[in-house]
Amino acid sequence: MNKNEMKLEFDSLSANEAFARVTVAAFMAQMNPSMEEVADVKTAVSEAVTNAVIHGYGEEVHKITITGSIEGQQLLLEIADQGVGIADVKKAMEPLYTSRPELERSGMGFLFMEAFMDEIQVFSKPGDGTTVVMKKMIGQHGA
Ligand code: ATP
Ligand code: MG
Repeated sequence: MNKNEMKLEFDSLSANEAFARVTVAAFMAQMNPSMEEVADVKTAVSEAVTNAVIHGYGEEVHKITITGSIEGQQLLLEIADQGVGIADVKKAMEPLYTSRPELERSGMGFLFMEAFMDEIQVFSKPGDGTTVVMKKMIGQHGA
């Protein structure tokens, strides 16, 4: 089966959140997605990138990478930072858990990613950074 891969690297500035979600939307356009599928993926990408900016790197600016691949009807995205990492991934992914309530974070980010994608996996180690892997089948709504 044909495969199409891309890699994007950008600074962890909140101004780049829109850049990241629009770029991923443009990449997946070739999959004949519904508007809802595009909106779902954009939301999930936004949440993952925002987390890398706010939690991964905090006040510092470093690189965030997104690798994407299209294989048949499956979209695979990996959003990675080399920031502080997560000590307890299971706890971090619990609905409403946030380590930054003072920033008015609501702890909904991972919940949205899980709701809007078919599958999400989080790989993280304190001091090493975090990689969020997300998959979604696209364009199955009939031509
Ligand atoms: P919201 O997304 O609703 O604004 P939130 O970002 O705190 O709030 P989640 O996105 O669900 O909620 O993330 C839960 C917690 O996981 C965060 O509070 C943070 O402690 C941790 N976390 C998530 N992504 C990262 C990351 N890239 N690096 C370090 N910690 C992270
Ligand atoms: Mg979040």
